[in-house]
Amino acid sequence: MNDSVNPSASSDENSDNSVLTNPTLVLNCGSSSIKYALISEDESTRITGLAENLGLDTARIKHTALNGEKLEIAIPGGRHKLALQKVLELLEQYHFIAVGHRGVHGGREYSEAVKVNDHVLSEVKRLKSLAPLHNPANALGIEAVQAIYPDIPQVVVFDTAFHQTMPPVAYRYPIPKALYEEEKIRRYGFHGTSHAYVSERASQLTEANDPQGWLTAHLGNGCSATAVYDGKSLDTSMGLTPLEGLMMGTRSGDVDPSLHIHLKRQLGMSLEDVDKMLNSESGLLGISGLSNDLRTVEQAANEGHKDAELAIEMFAYRVGKYLASLSCALPEFTGIVFTGGIGENSATTRARILNVMRHFGIAFDADKNKSLVGGAEGRFESDDSSIELWVIPTDEECQIAKETRQTLGLD
Ligand code: AMP
Repeated sequence: MNDSVNPSASSDENSDNSVLTNPTLVLNCGSSSIKYALISEDESTRITGLAENLGLDTARIKHTALNGEKLEIAIPGGRHKLALQKVLELLEQYHFIAVGHRGVHGGREYSEAVKVNDHVLSEVKRLKSLAPLHNPANALGIEAVQAIYPDIPQVVVFDTAFHQTMPPVAYRYPIPKALYEEEKIRRYGFHGTSHAYVSERASQLTEANDPQGWLTAHLGNGCSATAVYDGKSLDTSMGLTPLEGLMMGTRSGDVDPSLHIHLKRQLGMSLEDVDKMLNSESGLLGISGLSNDLRTVEQAANEGHKDAELAIEMFAYRVGKYLASLSCALPEFTGIVFTGGIGENSATTRARILNVMRHFGIAFDADKNKSLVGGAEGRFESDDSSIELWVIPTDEECQIAKETRQTLGLD
């Protein structure tokens, strides 16, 4: 890193800045990893990378340069601060004009992206009670950038913000009012940037009249579904935490709320044990006994593994059941949008989910469905279908860059 505190003051004759005009740096700081992307103003060009295994001997940065060249930098024992220093060093020659952070929990306070100042930073830290793993990492990311580039504006785009338009009927739990008023116990929802991006994209692509009502199914290792009407989230499957709702890679999704007390009484499990079991040992992994990765589970099912078959059936049944119930939130039902690693790639899972919803008059073109994999965007309902069906690859980084520019008045 050179001594300059302003990236625009540095120079590198080898860089081709013409294709990365006025880029925004997007940072997604997790508990042990940092994903980053440098995205040009017109969103056509980006540099990406990942710092992983932070805090361990195997900590490293995997960087893909503008010309596609891949670099790997070992930073044994390196934590967030060191990793970010190295990442900023790799990127400073591109003169980024803003930094957008993926924030996980913005509580009730933030219904849109917000420019970072001292108050925002202290709120991100305070909301740790609602996202103990993620919010401290977000704060570290903000502080690391501040320390090196105090003059670069930073924005936080919270995963919860898009869902702040939910009405009380959707966001309140039927529990005593004081818990909501004093402890902020309510449903918040997550994956907001992804649901915002794909619903907005579907609205651009469709010929349907405004306003449109979409059910967006973000199916990846984490899974959630949202009812979006006229660009606003009206209900979503995740709740106070990302555990509520759909069955996921390692998370159970909905279970009987009395499961905790039952397991404590019957097996003497602690609350922490139950929490770990529901978050890390359940979902596709828990049912199949094999893996949280649907590809592995699908392969085993094809070879006749009964538990793998059940895991896939349960996954699809629970998504279909949730989508059916979320349709109640929509004044009008224009269509379903599939996204996330599973939603974008597993045509058989999409077909199973739609078969679960058989009373909705949904019909699709099986060949078209099969063709929409590996990052393809398109529509696959047949002419006689009651609603539209879309596969739209999500792009949370692009959405964060866009909201960052908008928040700073750069667009
Ligand atoms: P994400 O969290 O959005 O990156 O999604 C990750 C998940 O997508 C993986 O755990 C896989 O289960 C799933 N996935 C990715 N590619 C495929 C594929 N070709 N077929 C089935 N599932 C896939």
